[in-house]
Amino acid sequence: MRILPTCKFWTPILVACLAVLIAPQSRAQVESTAGIKRFTKDQWTIVTDLPIDPEIESWPGILDQALATWCQKWSIDPVQAKSWPLVVHCIGDRKLFEQAGLLEGVPPFDDGFQQADRVFLIEQPSNYYRRHLLLHEATHWAMYHAFAGGGSPWFMEGMAEVEGTHQWINGKLSLAIIPSDPQGVPHWGRFKRLSDSIAAKGMPSLKQILYYGNDRQDRQDRYSWSWAACVFFRNHPVYATMLQRASAAPLDYSLKLTQLFENSLADRWDWVERDWKLFVDEFDFGYQPTSNLIALEPLTKDLSEGLPKDLSVDVDSAKGWQIANLFLRTGQQVGISAEGTYVVRMQNQQAWESSPSGISYQYYRHMPMGKLIGGFVSTDTSRPLDVFAIGKQTEYVAQSDGWLLLRINEPVGKRQDNSGKLTVRCAIGSRP
Ligand SMILES: [Zn+2]
Repeated sequence: MRILPTCKFWTPILVACLAVLIAPQSRAQVESTAGIKRFTKDQWTIVTDLPIDPEIESWPGILDQALATWCQKWSIDPVQAKSWPLVVHCIGDRKLFEQAGLLEGVPPFDDGFQQADRVFLIEQPSNYYRRHLLLHEATHWAMYHAFAGGGSPWFMEGMAEVEGTHQWINGKLSLAIIPSDPQGVPHWGRFKRLSDSIAAKGMPSLKQILYYGNDRQDRQDRYSWSWAACVFFRNHPVYATMLQRASAAPLDYSLKLTQLFENSLADRWDWVERDWKLFVDEFDFGYQPTSNLIALEPLTKDLSEGLPKDLSVDVDSAKGWQIANLFLRTGQQVGISAEGTYVVRMQNQQAWESSPSGISYQYYRHMPMGKLIGGFVSTDTSRPLDVFAIGKQTEYVAQSDGWLLLRINEPVGKRQDNSGKLTVRCAIGSRP
């Protein structure tokens, strides 16, 4: 969140010498106010009432790595960036910080907050998620310095979520990851929040997300959708450069970025929303934008001109949505039939083979894993993506004008070990 603005004798001697050598760079712990400790290393100061454990001690090193990454990514002069101080307040008992006057001038906040060179974090249920929050707020701080602002609320929070979603393994920090499984990111829960949000309120359009405000209500949903929108746009083969242009420095915290970006996409906004639906349908643990993100506009260019009565298309079992090279008019019926054998899992060097009907002893989204499914994208952007089972054969009647896409039924993160393809035949206006 952010608002505007082994020798027993030698060992002790060695330890003492090392302590003297290390002391000037290492933390100097000061009990500044009752219950609140403070330590400083280089440009980073940590203020906390929590025990300074190895995790909190590692934060200056984590912030060093994060800042080096941002300098590279955003062309910031590293020498200049080193001159920006940051005070991190890690809060267990909010009252202690209030009594110490450390929250003066800070508006009410729930999880985290950034104000100029100060960030505030409320204790979280896992080290991972607390670090996520640290990197989220530090992203606001870095953008405040580097770009004079974070941009419109969806972009500001989405970017902080992108950079906050990290991996910290053996002292090496990787930012802007898409987690491959929930075990690596305890209490992060963004994918669950997205699916719960869809179940409760339906999927938001990108237009809605781009005009999000800063209210505290429903903020976690808004952060998750803003993150998803940033992942989508930053990786999209057509729209990424447009976002780059609209988000060039200097930024502020108004809707200026949104309006610039929306204007640059005004003549193709329907395509943006269609690609967004296909993206959200697949976006989950293990999503790989380079192989999973689909741009429908160039794929459908010539499809509305004349209809083939009969066509055959190969569907790769390892890929996401694939276009059937077919444009259907409202009420048109298409007979779809499929054949082929393909591998849907490799386990203990054994290949699990599937046919278009799928493997009935494992289910995903209430359908057998590996089953051939269809997705109908309407020209009418107010209609949701219509996902339906195909299997060996089915008939589908288009409820509006639109395009047919195909893939096998399996979570996106489990498809990397798939191999083989299906041959799918589509016949318009006839039974299969
Ligand atoms: Zn934030």
